[in-house]
Amino acid sequence: MTDTEARSAIESQFLSRTPASAAHAARASKVMPGGDTRAAGHHPPYQLTMKSGSGAHLIDLDGNRYIDVIGNFTSLIHGNAYGPILEAATTAAASGTNWPARNEYAVELAEELVQRVASVDEVRFTNSGSEATMLAVEIARVWTGREKMLMARYGYHGSMPQFECGTFGFEHGDTLLAEFGDLASFVDVLERHPGEIACIILEPVMGSSGVLAAPEGFLAGIIDAAHAAGALVIFDEVITLRLAQGGRQAAEGVRPDLTAMAKIIGGGFPVGAVGGRADLMELCNPFNPKVFHSGTFNGNPVTTAAGLVSIRHLTSDAISDMDRRTQHLEVRLTEEAAARGLPFASRREGSLLQLYMADDLPAASIHRTDAEQATQFHLACLNNGVFAAGRGLMALSTVLDDALVDEVIDRMAAAMDDLASH
Ligand code: PMP
Repeated sequence: MTDTEARSAIESQFLSRTPASAAHAARASKVMPGGDTRAAGHHPPYQLTMKSGSGAHLIDLDGNRYIDVIGNFTSLIHGNAYGPILEAATTAAASGTNWPARNEYAVELAEELVQRVASVDEVRFTNSGSEATMLAVEIARVWTGREKMLMARYGYHGSMPQFECGTFGFEHGDTLLAEFGDLASFVDVLERHPGEIACIILEPVMGSSGVLAAPEGFLAGIIDAAHAAGALVIFDEVITLRLAQGGRQAAEGVRPDLTAMAKIIGGGFPVGAVGGRADLMELCNPFNPKVFHSGTFNGNPVTTAAGLVSIRHLTSDAISDMDRRTQHLEVRLTEEAAARGLPFASRREGSLLQLYMADDLPAASIHRTDAEQATQFHLACLNNGVFAAGRGLMALSTVLDDALVDEVIDRMAAAMDDLASH
């Protein structure tokens, strides 16, 4: 069989397994551009329509069952429809979904975050990680009286032009770029823009561009360099908060000025939060506001009740179990790929695993040299009942136990057979 025939066999199988999703994609395309409403889940020939999710499983419109190994892009840390979260959210919703006054859950969740994340003295809630990073940058701008922001090339901080230019690799407006892991490149930009840069915003582990950890000393060096230049440091822990109870900053022993959080702190509901030093956060104090910040659903009771359970059930034992299982997964997938002579490389940090269908690990980038192979492998995984991210990211949840992880390995090995069958 030729390469093209093998590929089309994978795609043909996908088409024949998912006719209801295909029909629904056509219907969706009439009212939503490309049938979609979110870039991250998009993949050819069409994304699936899911009917339900429960625990470690998703079920699509055609009744196909998938083991969910991405958990809504790292946010469902306890899987789908986790019982204790459902109970907390429905109890909260039954008493009213939101009102323009304080609720008790939001304060409890703020207290929990302050207690867990050492650099966080106070918290403001938002409705997404994107809003959280935007607010953090705004606080830095007002505090410093400067406009420019420095981020890592290919970093991801949300879906706004001021960040997305950097995600795609170019500078624009007030957004400046340096190279992740290369402290000298950040120092160079700081020196070329004296008195202009309000903040450095950084993922402590690059997420979207390939689960790339900061080299030893890099984060501490960034904090020193920024402070010497009169700039603040924002850590974007939207993904990495899952890696340790106090976030990646705790594991690395460093303290940013501000931290953006989201995903797991909402228990599966829309959420974001900025936390940080009290003197900085006080700029948002409505008794004496320097930063105007509002939002109809900020800190709503349903999200914060769910988030509280999500965070409280994320014990350090649960984190180390996920990490151990993800390590096992990485080792076994590497062996299975090698047994079939498939190009394969991976990066792992804790419960985050990034796969490449290439022999060498690429540099941090959203651009892929293995895009075609990765797309085919993703479809083959779907055909074999494993739901990962199109770009090869996996994020384990606490409900994926040892037996389920072994089942994932078997199913992904079968997907590798499909890929290698030519
Ligand atoms: N920062 C990082 C590191 C992210 O991965 C994301 C989302 N994947 C965001 C910010 C934006 O969060 P949201 O999608 O909730 O707006």
